[in-house]
Amino acid sequence: PSATEPVELAQAFGRVLASEVVSPAPVPPFTGSAMDGYAVRAEDLRVAAPRSPVSLQLVGESRAGHPCSAVVGGGEAVAISTGAVLPRGADTVVPVESTRAGQGTAMGETVEVAERLVRGTFVRAAGGDIDAGASVLSGGTKLGAAELGVLASVGCGLPVCTRRPRVRILTTGDELLAADEPARVGGVRDSNRHTLPHLARSSGAQVTGVDSVGDDPASLKAAVAGALQADLTVICGGVSVGEHDHVKDALRTAGVSERFSGIALKPGKPTWFGTRDGKLVFGLPGNPVSAMVTFILLVAPALRNMCGVAAEEEPLSAVLAEDYEKRPGRAHAVRCRMQRRNGQWWATPTGAQDSHLLSSMIGADGLAMVPRSSGSVRAGDPVEVLPIRDLMSSLG
Ligand code: AMP
Ligand code: MG
Repeated sequence: PSATEPVELAQAFGRVLASEVVSPAPVPPFTGSAMDGYAVRAEDLRVAAPRSPVSLQLVGESRAGHPCSAVVGGGEAVAISTGAVLPRGADTVVPVESTRAGQGTAMGETVEVAERLVRGTFVRAAGGDIDAGASVLSGGTKLGAAELGVLASVGCGLPVCTRRPRVRILTTGDELLAADEPARVGGVRDSNRHTLPHLARSSGAQVTGVDSVGDDPASLKAAVAGALQADLTVICGGVSVGEHDHVKDALRTAGVSERFSGIALKPGKPTWFGTRDGKLVFGLPGNPVSAMVTFILLVAPALRNMCGVAAEEEPLSAVLAEDYEKRPGRAHAVRCRMQRRNGQWWATPTGAQDSHLLSSMIGADGLAMVPRSSGSVRAGDPVEVLPIRDLMSSLG
């Protein structure tokens, strides 16, 4: 996990708490009213009935944010609003709907109550939500809307969060063209520079640079050296076994030590991983689907771990909706669309699974993981699916 830093609550959405947060005070902070009405003593309403209402003398008003100093004695009431402090002496709140204005007396206004109430009705106890000293959130919690609200309610305006890991992304290839560059024969649009940074951000990272470089060894070495400043570097393309794949060489020259090279996964076979000075370096295949899938399966969990996220997403047990042809040897990550039918998750592959067919990622919300040793899977067979909707879309 990364270092920690205090983060202003208004900027803390999506951040991860570094340690447990304990409430210094009770929430709600005082015993108050849950209704607009009158603070009374339940005992005074003992004989109240529709035909014989009890008349109470009004001795003050307690408004939200403006407590009243009056004490409610026998036969007395204080007008009260929702969220206001319950005045001393009172133990019950009569909602305004259950009262009538009284005749008034020489002492001032009165209110009539025509029903009995159990003591404590419509009173919110101090600490009823959170006790003073109670643990409200544990370290490793990802802060969403509810967590931010709870932090505010316990007065924690500067939660200590893990620092976002810094990520740099380098795409490689002489053929790469920016999305708005004029087309050229043999040119291929650089889509990875737009998919991978967003996957990094939704994994909790801060992307500090996205660059592109051609295949010539000298420029590649310079670009790789620059990209290695980050906590985690992703270099995509050029990690395969082709004659112009110089990334692994450039990484070795830069002093990155190889941890593994090649994995038994389709798509993603050439995936490379190394480290230098505690920093992580991934070499991902350039094919757009392979790059996304290997990022999701290997880089995203590493980033979540660096963010200190406690909970890992559990795979879903699903049923494959169509036959899927496969030979044993490599695990397959099959991009699927998930549907709930008859109390069961069904995973439908999004079409042809070749690793250059990027449009097949659109609408994919799960990766069905067919194990390495498995052969073809038939429609109706069980399959484990990794949900990817949260990673893929900023709107969840
Ligand atoms: P490589 O991994 O460099 O052998 O590239 C494999 C395939 O992916 C080739 O068809 C490349 O043109 C393509 N490719 C590599 N990098 C990118 C990228 N950044 N965006 C889109 N396609 C890419
Ligand atoms: Mg290449």
